Amino acid sequence: MTMNLKGRVALVTGSTSGIGLGIADALAQAGADIMVNGIADAATVDQVLAGLRAHGVKAAFSPADIGKPDQVKGLVHTTIEQLGSLDILVNNAGIQYVAKIEDFPEDRWDAIIAINLSGAFHASKWAIPGMRKAGWGRIINIASAHGLVGSEQKSAYVAAKHGIVGLTKVTAQELADAGITANAICPGWVLTPLVQKQLDAKAAQEGVSVETVTHAFLTEKQAMAKFTTPAQIGALAVFLCSEAASTITGIALPIDGGWTSR
Ligand code: NAD
Repeated sequence: MTMNLKGRVALVTGSTSGIGLGIADALAQAGADIMVNGIADAATVDQVLAGLRAHGVKAAFSPADIGKPDQVKGLVHTTIEQLGSLDILVNNAGIQYVAKIEDFPEDRWDAIIAINLSGAFHASKWAIPGMRKAGWGRIINIASAHGLVGSEQKSAYVAAKHGIVGLTKVTAQELADAGITANAICPGWVLTPLVQKQLDAKAAQEGVSVETVTHAFLTEKQAMAKFTTPAQIGALAVFLCSEAASTITGIALPIDGGWTSR
């Protein structure tokens, strides 16, 4: 039962920071070549690529916008052209916006659905034919605890994450006989720039320290008052790529400090 991913190529959308970077790093440690994607300056991209190449794998970068269907198609094709195949697709790129429905800007709704949900559909659509041909593939969709339960002020995010759990189930059904699994990972709180922005905004709004807000954030939702790390989510992704996980498909797996058990 090997975790060795040598010879496999992984595309991780939104992997210049946070959870995506943690997953890219874990897959590279396991031997996979990596296509990095995201919005980042040249120095950050260089640093990310150097970190991955230090594991002895190939790594390339594309700035494709996951909210734009044509660019997602191009990203899949660029991955295959530059790295030789696309065996592992991790749909991770995501954004957040927090407001009540009646105050929620329409353009933020559209952007969240485009990036957090439709991007995963477009990437899967263009990646699946090559995986079918190879008779092996792994699709990992990064959903959220918000793919399983709701929270106020996150209408677009929760809708997109519930949508990606549904997309995962259909992907798994359609690919069941093709040697390809599709699963969703549902993290609770992970300390990344996406979450840090929410903590900073809440602390400023309430006039309290970031530490106070952080403790309240964690304990309001999770049974465990601690963050999951990007490296832990990366390790879970590597497991889902292993032979041991070859019959795990169509699930939405929480890694959430007990959030969804409440
Ligand atoms: P992050 O802000 O650290 O990283 C997001 C990544 O997506 C970055 O690389 C960014 O450049 C990229 N990105 C954003 N918009 C993009 C676009 N249009 N095209 C291409 N790339 C784009 O956030 P994160 O917390 O690491 O989130 C990653 C994923 O994990 C998201 O789907 C998020 O919803 C999910 N998630 C996060 C948490 C958490 O607590 N941090 C919990 C559950 C789920």
